[in-house]
Amino acid sequence: MSEHTVLDALRSSLTGSLLRPSDDAFDQARLPWNRAIDQRPAAVATPADIADLRLLLQAARDSGAPIAVQPSGHGASGDLAGAIIVRMAAFDQLDIDLTDGVAVVGAGVAWGRVVEALEGTGWAAPAGTSPVVSATGYTLGGGHSWFSRTAGLGSDNLRAAWVLRADGTHDRVDDDSDPDLLWALRGAGGLVGIVTALEIELVRTPDLWGASLVFDAADSAAVLRAVRDLAVDAPATLNVFVNSMRLPDAPQLPAEIRGQSFLSVQALSVDGAAEALLEPVRRAAALRRAQAGPTSPLAVGEQSNEPTDPSPSRGAAVALASFDDATIDSLTRFHAGPEQWPIIGIDIRMLGGALDAPRRPGFASLRSAAWMLHALTPLFPGAPVESGDTSLAAFRDLLSPFAASTTLPTFLAPHQTLELCASPGDVERLRALRALVDPERLLHEGRLPR
Ligand SMILES: Cc1cc2nc3c(=O)[nH]c(=O)nc-3n(C[C@H](O)[C@H](O)[C@H](O)COP(=O)(O)OP(=O)(O)OC[C@H]3O[C@@H](n4cnc5c(N)ncnc54)[C@H](O)[C@@H]3O)c2cc1C
Repeated sequence: MSEHTVLDALRSSLTGSLLRPSDDAFDQARLPWNRAIDQRPAAVATPADIADLRLLLQAARDSGAPIAVQPSGHGASGDLAGAIIVRMAAFDQLDIDLTDGVAVVGAGVAWGRVVEALEGTGWAAPAGTSPVVSATGYTLGGGHSWFSRTAGLGSDNLRAAWVLRADGTHDRVDDDSDPDLLWALRGAGGLVGIVTALEIELVRTPDLWGASLVFDAADSAAVLRAVRDLAVDAPATLNVFVNSMRLPDAPQLPAEIRGQSFLSVQALSVDGAAEALLEPVRRAAALRRAQAGPTSPLAVGEQSNEPTDPSPSRGAAVALASFDDATIDSLTRFHAGPEQWPIIGIDIRMLGGALDAPRRPGFASLRSAAWMLHALTPLFPGAPVESGDTSLAAFRDLLSPFAASTTLPTFLAPHQTLELCASPGDVERLRALRALVDPERLLHEGRLPR
């Protein structure tokens, strides 16, 4: 049967909706959240329920157009030509058990809803910095959060998943019932099934305390050395992010930071004040601003100030095995260089702690890495058209000699593949599993190396 015939028939059998290129609403529906990516699928489906998902699998079988689940497209990789994009908004279940510290989160739920629901409960979600990223897309890609030194990757907190397999069966899967599938779901994305909900362990945060220390950009090297040294003995209860900011003189930005360059160190402790631990960082250079005190997961999320509206997001990330003085010096010189103006921020996350000792087997791991560095080019409306690709490539070139053996799937740039995230043996294990559970290749091959 021709693809055209199959997709036309599918449209009339779905309870949800299906848009084709000839539909007026298609051009808007096909766009991913990351507007830097153009994607030209064969159709965009919004299934209403599991019966609709089964019809989609059958249509993929009959037409040869693979299914690509994409709740929002934050992680769009740009290779969905001819696929059926599936939006999961209807799968909006959120059940929280505050006694056991577990949430069952539907595949269409964004982290922001979970974080808000947990506010004031003493529990936090192992969520990333963006409230509009889906909990499922993040967790299936590994997921690094403010709490990762304390609780590991998002995927390490994945207890179980409700999965619709390519053969049409739908069940709850855990490490006892199907350890191979769970291993793959912990980082390799949607290659082995369509997830309808996840069971996620929450992070206990009895006494959450945060600090923000802001320094002049000129002092970056001295402060980064102090943060690097702090990592040697820091307890897993302390999480640290550093932002090297170089903001353009753009009218959209608040007056106090517009056109400014600075380095901010943000620390989050899950078991109360950590002033003494941070003292060497405070003393590393003159403080421009400082703030410390009790905080909450919602406040921490708001501080991250991530864009919520669809944006042309471009970035480059490198996980480092170590962060020696020479690397710190060359990074700070690099970011101050006039030609690197497109890079408005470099996010530097301290790894280690629970990340070094995962509790559950999974495809994604940051065990070999000590730091995650992520450079970002402008996101806000009206930002210069310059994509920053040259600067992002230079950033990668600068750091790749010091890269750890693997990085995290959620930090991959468009067109990068999973071979950067696991050993060749694990990539082969994934291929073999996929051949077993989806022999007809109904599910899009995503970021699997071609
Ligand atoms: C502003 C911003 C901030 C971010 N901050 C962080 C951060 O702090 N830490 C971090 O680790 N990452 C972060 N990310 C990256 C983000 O976590 C990934 O891009 C993630 O994959 C996005 O998930 P999504 O579902 O929203 O995106 P999508 O692009 O819609 O989905 C990503 C992938 O997930 C899989 N998938 C999603 N749902 C299903 C399903 N139901 N069944 C099967 N497969 C599925 C598919 O393979 C899909 O391609 C950030 C991204 C942005 C844009």
